[in-house]
Amino acid sequence: MIRKRLCVLKVIIPSIIILLIGLGSSFAQKVPTTEEVLGFKVGADYHLATYEQAVEYFKALEKASPRIKVFEMGKTEMGKTMIYAVITSEENMGKLDRYKEISKRLALAKGLTDEEARSLAAEGKAIVLIGAGMHAGECAPAQGHIQFAYDLVTSEDAQYRLIRENTILLLYFPNPDGMTMLADWYLPNLGTPYEVSGMPWLYNKYVGHDDNRDSYMNNLKEIQSITRIVNREWFPVILYDHHQTAPFPARIWIPPAAEPTNPNLHPLFIRGKSLIGCAMGYIFDREGKPGAISRFAFDFIYPGYEDSFCDYFNVISIMTETAHYRYATPHFYTLDEFPAAYRDFIVSVFYPSPWKGGWWRLKDGMEYANTASRGVLHTAAVYREMFLYDRYQMGRDTIAKFKKEPPYAWIIPQDQWDPPVAARMLDNLVFSGIEVYKAKESFVSGGITYPAGTWVIPMDQAFSRFVKAIFEEQVYPDLVKYPTLWQGIVRPQSFPGAYLPPYDMAGWTLPYQMGVKVLAANAPLEAKLESLTKVVPPGGRVEGGYAYLISSRTNNSFIAVNRILKKGGQVLWTQDSFSAGGKSYPAGTLVVPSGSVSSSFMESVAKELYLDIGATGSGVTAKTYKLKVPRIALYKSWIGNSDEGWTRWLFEKYEFPFTNIYDAEVRAGDLGKKYDVLVIPSSGTDAIVNGNRQGTIAPQYVGGITEAGVRNIKEFVEGGGTLVTLRQGCMFAIEKLGVPVKDALAGLQPTGRREEGGPSEPAKFACPGSLLRMEFNSKHPVAYGMPSEAPGMFYGGTAFDILSSFEGKGPVVVAKYPGGDLLMSGWLLGEKYLQNKAAAVDVPVGKGRVILLGFATQNRAQPHGTFKLLFNSLYYGAAQ
Ligand SMILES: [Zn+2]
Repeated sequence: MIRKRLCVLKVIIPSIIILLIGLGSSFAQKVPTTEEVLGFKVGADYHLATYEQAVEYFKALEKASPRIKVFEMGKTEMGKTMIYAVITSEENMGKLDRYKEISKRLALAKGLTDEEARSLAAEGKAIVLIGAGMHAGECAPAQGHIQFAYDLVTSEDAQYRLIRENTILLLYFPNPDGMTMLADWYLPNLGTPYEVSGMPWLYNKYVGHDDNRDSYMNNLKEIQSITRIVNREWFPVILYDHHQTAPFPARIWIPPAAEPTNPNLHPLFIRGKSLIGCAMGYIFDREGKPGAISRFAFDFIYPGYEDSFCDYFNVISIMTETAHYRYATPHFYTLDEFPAAYRDFIVSVFYPSPWKGGWWRLKDGMEYANTASRGVLHTAAVYREMFLYDRYQMGRDTIAKFKKEPPYAWIIPQDQWDPPVAARMLDNLVFSGIEVYKAKESFVSGGITYPAGTWVIPMDQAFSRFVKAIFEEQVYPDLVKYPTLWQGIVRPQSFPGAYLPPYDMAGWTLPYQMGVKVLAANAPLEAKLESLTKVVPPGGRVEGGYAYLISSRTNNSFIAVNRILKKGGQVLWTQDSFSAGGKSYPAGTLVVPSGSVSSSFMESVAKELYLDIGATGSGVTAKTYKLKVPRIALYKSWIGNSDEGWTRWLFEKYEFPFTNIYDAEVRAGDLGKKYDVLVIPSSGTDAIVNGNRQGTIAPQYVGGITEAGVRNIKEFVEGGGTLVTLRQGCMFAIEKLGVPVKDALAGLQPTGRREEGGPSEPAKFACPGSLLRMEFNSKHPVAYGMPSEAPGMFYGGTAFDILSSFEGKGPVVVAKYPGGDLLMSGWLLGEKYLQNKAAAVDVPVGKGRVILLGFATQNRAQPHGTFKLLFNSLYYGAAQ
């Protein structure tokens, strides 16, 4: 009874307070709660709101309050409309355009004096973006957003008022598709033995967890929309992206981050991240919320995450990881679940209030996430003017820095191996907010004369640190060299020979990945330049004759061939070099007899794809393969796989028709009747063969291809089919099909996880996402169109020894690591284990073949320079 009365009081008292304080906000009592709109209180056990419900609620708030406005920001890959809510005071809401303009001018810095910047900073508001649910399985912060919008709109608490007056918040959901998929999966499983089973597919259309590894490429629609609002429209001072889950048993991970730190960042920026992180931590303990931890596990050296990409645009971008059990199911944690090191509740500088166990519910995760969001906004409100001015200062300093030190500019010749790829790279920079120019006249740099039309990126621009960070070779810091540098956070002496692995990649140099030639200007550049709003490659001409000739150097050729084949045209693939009309053409040149397609069709293909299509007056003398539309099967299991998703995305972009095949179809066999080529993306052998274990998920998603599937794949290959395996997928071919090659790195790669302090054993070989020198056999169909030497991405891959009895008569090496220096960008320990090993191999098996692509030819759809190996494998598998 007493409890009941207290509850009534709890309801009445706040209502009175709201009525009393809310004189200036007479709408406050009409603002609907989540319960009134959604039918449940958001965050309640066993309830998850879909994205559509979140939008519905935001729109209900918009109707009831002048403090929130909903805007559209683009479409998702599955076609949903992405929205964001702007939340601020009524007064600020009336002047959004002015505040956007102030933020833009301060961000770009150019043309402002310090005084002007100071007065703009005094007038401006701190624009802050907060996203939640990028990784949809990490659902508490996205659910939290719904409640947070209500709290921010209605609360008359001094802290909320301060936030509304000084900041303009953009609250958004970076992965709407995933948010709804998650609720649709979880809710029907409630009360079944599979209540907390993982989704058997990716939580978005293509790439699952990799959706926050795409930011510098902008491949995905969702990421494009975020880049657009950040760098082209709102120019926020802070971007905050919510994640889960904290290193157990901590309840939330907050900045400062782990090492290493990217050397291209302005020091104020690094301080800004720590300042906000520490302020968040302060709020947690002030409010009696224990368990906030910092300074280990997560580093931001890789610029592909949304919250590290924005770093280089001088947006203080941060991430947190809130603790989470699963979905909306609560869990009670006892001490015996804790790792031994945490059972004594040792207090430390970056973990001052150890969490001691007990219940953890969706509601708790939401409250922590919202406390963190509030901490960010509160800090932004308190330091509003400083952050605004400092955004200007970071831009100003960047401009000044590259006026007096190299690189003064980057020069990108139009004469490229694959010009449309070079243009794609530059166009993406323009889209991201970088100024890219074209020379109006020829100019000289470093003693070389560049013709008019050469692309130039001058570095005296506010965001140029980004260009440097993605263009230069990465030199990953060697832990062993700096044993005391990182304030005792890492102890290399405990791990003799150890290295500090990055959370993700160590080397990503984009021109290397994309096969684009760029040159740094090491002296100030004098050139007449015109600014570009779109970067268009040269090319698009067609010569007429007996047959059209398409170079295999250009990735767009694959689109051309796919369109020609689809139209019923004929395409021949030359097996040797030949000459025609006084020019010589390499093996792999594509020949289209002009009688098989119309000239207007070829003209449109050339124009749309920027291809220069040559011609020959007679038939070519070289031996040729006849290409046909390959019947492609892309293996997809009931374990969501980002590599499968990226491969699928690429096949669609390059217009390869394909079918996803699942375990049941592989188990059923007769694959050769339907397919020419079977592609197995990077995946462990056990996952492929055994799949999900009995009892972990509903029966229809249990099991893999089984040994029956292994036999069927063998039969498919022996009968003439082509199996293409990517990275770890190659181990399946080695372990299960008995191909005569050996894993050259067996037993050498590190074990153990970074969160536990580093690899458990000293690694002999380690190469966490780096670019290595590789040699390509461009006379082999799989490497047609490749230069003889080019960088290749090594990322969770493998390399091959060819078993001696087969050398010279069986497997053919398509790509290999040379004997000399291998590392081009990133980190490589144990170089000798890769030297002279094969990186890609064509293994004849029966009437068919297995093509092992041991390195990351298509990783995250970034290394355009090596897509050809995968695409050629598809044609080769169906060529006659
Ligand atoms: Zn995450």
